[in-house]
Amino acid sequence: MFKKSLRIQIVATFILIIIISLFLSFGITRLIAEREITFDEPFLTIASDTADLLAVAEPDRRIQVLYILSRYNIHGEILKEGNVLPFSLTEEETSLLFQSDITEPFFLNTREGPVRFIGVPNIDDNGSSLIVKVDFTHFSKVLQRILLISLILVLAIGSLFILLASNYIVKPVRKLTSAAKEMATGNLTVRLKSKKNDELGELIYSFNHMASELQKTDKMRDDFVSNVSHEIQSPITSIRGFTKAIRDGVIPQEHQKEHLDIIYEETLRLSKLSDHLLRLASLDSDNHPFHPVEYQLDEQLRRMILVSEPLWLEKNIDVELHLKPCKVKVDQDLFEQVWQNLITNAIKYSDKNDKIEVKMEIVDQKVQVQIKDTGKGIPEEDLPYVFDRFYMVDKARSRSRGGNGLGLSIVKKIIELHGCQINVKSEEGKGSCFTISIPL
Ligand code: ADP
Repeated sequence: MFKKSLRIQIVATFILIIIISLFLSFGITRLIAEREITFDEPFLTIASDTADLLAVAEPDRRIQVLYILSRYNIHGEILKEGNVLPFSLTEEETSLLFQSDITEPFFLNTREGPVRFIGVPNIDDNGSSLIVKVDFTHFSKVLQRILLISLILVLAIGSLFILLASNYIVKPVRKLTSAAKEMATGNLTVRLKSKKNDELGELIYSFNHMASELQKTDKMRDDFVSNVSHEIQSPITSIRGFTKAIRDGVIPQEHQKEHLDIIYEETLRLSKLSDHLLRLASLDSDNHPFHPVEYQLDEQLRRMILVSEPLWLEKNIDVELHLKPCKVKVDQDLFEQVWQNLITNAIKYSDKNDKIEVKMEIVDQKVQVQIKDTGKGIPEEDLPYVFDRFYMVDKARSRSRGGNGLGLSIVKKIIELHGCQINVKSEEGKGSCFTISIPL
């Protein structure tokens, strides 16, 4: 079946444009020619030359001269006043011919076109005048035919070339279509090559970019699923192992409490993991409830430090607060989660007798909150990844401290949702400093 392809559309548009242009240019040329260009001069010259020829010819040879000229569509008639007018001319049209003492040739009527009548008065001493009918109809028809043929040739040759050229334009579009179809089947490795610098080149570049982004997302999703499975699997394995051991009586009564404690810890870990996953999923979906309210940030920070008091007291950590009254307009619950994650991390990754500082500063219409610890710090090579989901610098150590690598990614997500910024500076063995900037 006839398919409305891009190529056919390009060719059809081109032909249509050419035809319209031809008509327009033809019309405009005619209009200009009629107004600006007059072909009077050659007609007058022919008439005057005919008169000259007759003047030098013997009187009885004049008929012969006129006959020869008639073969070139120049028809002359010599007449005197009162003679029958040739070429169905009227008295009125020829009146000037016998009246004046004009010797120059002139047009007998105002008719235009390829047939013209020119009068040449007084061509001899007998007072004869000459009427010349110059008929260029045939010549003009030939000219028109040549013009028409060249226009048709322009159309035909142009169409042929545009048919070939359209292939050059359509080819990348076809390649893109088949690549997109291939991608739809699940092959995200498809890439297209293009040396073009134009819009099509840009389209191909965007397609490749989209493909790599999709591939990255796909990989992230795979990693995420495998991380989640792993994080769920390990507590379940230990719960299953310990319960089976207790059920089979492998563990003596006096040691059972320790194992039950571990089982309890593992269930806590699972519940925290599901909590974090749910929160991330909810933050990822665009319909997470988001209620910015104005509240005292310093009070919120003070409260969060108080809530975590048992944790830092247990490690004998010195907590210093440098807060000043400051109001912000953000989602209070979500920011509570931010401070909670950052403060528990600072405690979690600090040793006994370390120090934690929570500082507030107002710079350039922004409030900057710094949570600084003198804990174990983060190695430089791990710093760019600490906000990635499930990223843990030291997996065994993080897990032993109840971590799952989701805390900072939740923080980052909340910060991004609010259009705020988070920065981290850290030095291994010396401590870390997380800075959050909230616009006022
Ligand atoms: P986790 O639940 O493991 O703490 P996070 O996403 O909160 O997960 O943190 C990611 C990783 O970043 C942690 O595993 C830890 O190695 C590192 N990290 C985060 N905060 C600190 C900190 N204050 N000091 C040192 N390391 C930190």
